[in-house]
Amino acid sequence: MNLILMGLPGAGKGTQAERIVEKYEIPHISTGDMFRAAIKGETELGLKAKSFMDAGELVPDEVTIGIVRDRLAKDDCKKGFLLDGFPRTVAQAEALEELLASLDRKLDYVLNVDVPEQLLMDRLTGRRVSPTSGRTYHVIFNPPKVEGKCDVDGSDLIQRDDDKPETVKKRLEVNQKQAKPLFDFYSEKGYLRNIKGDQDIDKVFDDIDQLLKGLRA
Ligand code: AMP
Repeated sequence: MNLILMGLPGAGKGTQAERIVEKYEIPHISTGDMFRAAIKGETELGLKAKSFMDAGELVPDEVTIGIVRDRLAKDDCKKGFLLDGFPRTVAQAEALEELLASLDRKLDYVLNVDVPEQLLMDRLTGRRVSPTSGRTYHVIFNPPKVEGKCDVDGSDLIQRDDDKPETVKKRLEVNQKQAKPLFDFYSEKGYLRNIKGDQDIDKVFDDIDQLLKGLRA
């Protein structure tokens, strides 16, 4: 089962990724996680990736494609994989096609967890934190007992700059713009499957599961 998982920030991609890899026993290959681990371990790769990540830029394609190539060659990928955060560019998508062809494999699906923009905004801008206890809340999904006050120490909750509507909107726009050519690429090849992400977490997984079950038959 060879899969790519896509979704804008706030779409719930991380949660679905965890469930997919658990149920189908395939490795979760997140390039972001791999880069973060490399930075933490102060490896050569970490050194290469750090400046780009710190600047909020994409790590160059040749570096990124290289780590995915090495990872997919490992034994645990023989029965499949779930790519998360890769590909981010059409050049990466093309390199992946070549790489899979050289391994005599092909993609099954590109799953896109699709959530309307307004709901993404609500999810991403609703976070509130207590500056003193560090506890986080969500105004809709995980509200404090008393509006605007921390349950732990009663402090006034604040909204981080990252979670402010202008910042979130910009982040979504950048991500959308980046993802569009990839959607076109995979839609043309017939791999793209949109998963309705504005439902209960279990129902979203159910829909994915129904689709993937077909691959096993
Ligand atoms: P993520 O955790 O997927 O949001 O990735 C965090 C950061 O890692 C990104 O902002 C990029 O700097 C880098 N990164 C992750 N995946 C890729 C990729 N496929 N291509 C280039 N850079 C990436």
